[in-house]
Amino acid sequence: MESTRHGSNSSLVRGFTRRAAGGLLAGAAASAAFAGQSAPRQRKILVAGGHPDDPETSCGGTILRYVDAGFESVVLYLTRGEAGIEGVSHQEAARIRTAEAEKACKLMKARPIFAGQIDGSSEITNARYAEMRAILEKEAPDLIFTHWPLDTHRDHRHCANLVLDAWLSLGRRQPLFYYEVATGSQTQVFRPTDYVDITATVERKHEACFVHVSQKIRETYERHHGPMERFRGIEARCGSAEAFIRHVQGPDALLI
Ligand SMILES: [Zn+2]
Repeated sequence: MESTRHGSNSSLVRGFTRRAAGGLLAGAAASAAFAGQSAPRQRKILVAGGHPDDPETSCGGTILRYVDAGFESVVLYLTRGEAGIEGVSHQEAARIRTAEAEKACKLMKARPIFAGQIDGSSEITNARYAEMRAILEKEAPDLIFTHWPLDTHRDHRHCANLVLDAWLSLGRRQPLFYYEVATGSQTQVFRPTDYVDITATVERKHEACFVHVSQKIRETYERHHGPMERFRGIEARCGSAEAFIRHVQGPDALLI
């Protein structure tokens, strides 16, 4: 199943699909457009999350679908999960969780980068805005994903706001999509506009998620993420899906 958008006029959706095929999708269509010219730049997605495991659990299946289609994938972690292991120092937790994030990214064929903030103490300051802007300017992705800003976790909210600010100040160059993290327990009032069918990648997604053993991730996955991806699959009429909200003031694109 192709990606779907809910709540849109169907004729507009078809128009979006055509534009997306020329503008964002990799593979045969994109390659043909560059035939006879120098090799095209590899298209890139960037997924920003507050902590190791957020990008993987929320859009790991989508990351893998883009990687399978030939995109470069960058996963930006705002923090290294310093406060995420009870009874362990921040330094040791950061070491453990960085290794888990790197392993997860290796499984997804993604490149991890770290913004240098501290789990549980992330900041919104002018310096931090400038830092995020510099990262996005340097990476120049073709598509951005980040947390939906209404979330119980401050780091998730801060990540969303930093990315939004950088995206605005850089001129809204690429489509921006918000993802959900365990809707109900963390993400709030999330009403998806777009869905990605992850049936073909869900098993590899789980492998990447389950390397976060320090987070007892299998238990939380069973309670939150598993039912969520199955429910989104029911909504999108496929096996498993991940859901997103598109920022309507950026360039449009149907997801893969
Ligand atoms: Zn998180």
